[in-house]
Amino acid sequence: MPAIRLFGLPTDINSSFERGAAAGPAAIRAALWSDRGNMASELGPEIGTDIALTDDGDLPLTEDTAQDDAAIRRHIAYVREDGEIPLALGGDHAVTFPLVEAAAACHGPVTILHFDAHPDLYDDFAGNPRSHASPFARICEAGHAKRLVQVGIRTLNRHCREQAERFGVEIIEMADFTPDKVPVLEGPLYISIDLDGLDPSAAPGVAHPEPGGLTVREMLSVLRKQVAPIVGADIVELHPVRDLGDVTAILGAKLVRELAALIDRNGPHIA
Ligand code: MN
Ligand code: MN
Repeated sequence: MPAIRLFGLPTDINSSFERGAAAGPAAIRAALWSDRGNMASELGPEIGTDIALTDDGDLPLTEDTAQDDAAIRRHIAYVREDGEIPLALGGDHAVTFPLVEAAAACHGPVTILHFDAHPDLYDDFAGNPRSHASPFARICEAGHAKRLVQVGIRTLNRHCREQAERFGVEIIEMADFTPDKVPVLEGPLYISIDLDGLDPSAAPGVAHPEPGGLTVREMLSVLRKQVAPIVGADIVELHPVRDLGDVTAILGAKLVRELAALIDRNGPHIA
């Protein structure tokens, strides 16, 4: 069974509207290790007892995106060398580009299950091609996704619809979402969770809250039906200053436990 390595990416240099997500990893970590909750997962195993999860802390990022991307790829290479599965905490969503790049370097193009209110497919946003509004455009252009399935989407404009068509992105729009519309995906599987995919009532601590989102239960049911080996995952865009009573951080910590249990259940897959 694969061990899981948790690490934080405290950067929000590519946020388009307001910074704050750099403080996300520390807030999720505080909730995860707090005595307020326990380490159970809904799939059964307890994290730390039945499933090995080590926390590397935060990577020392610099606000130089090229340098930070290289540091992220390097860290994942170390994690994989140890036969472990990377589970990253953002940070803004721009970090998913180097994370998927590193997964594809090891496994070839991956299937991606992406939860978000936004498709993050902008060719560039406000002149920044590495914007947190653009990572999946960069991933698709680079050929790192053999299939990209987006869930929770409810902000599609014309440009992003055209981009989705151009890249063959499968979007399950929130307007007619039911969990059974999400396919059971083939591996190697990468899972990216932007917390704003959830409804703001469940996850208020984000920079771009968008009404009409997923319930926590819907997200968990989409996750648990996935049976393919998971090669990496991230939870991004927690903006602690906007959070209410730490509920979004506590949700982030729950998602760490549920992703860890899913990675464990879906089995070994180190190339
Ligand atoms: Mn988003
Ligand atoms: Mn996003």
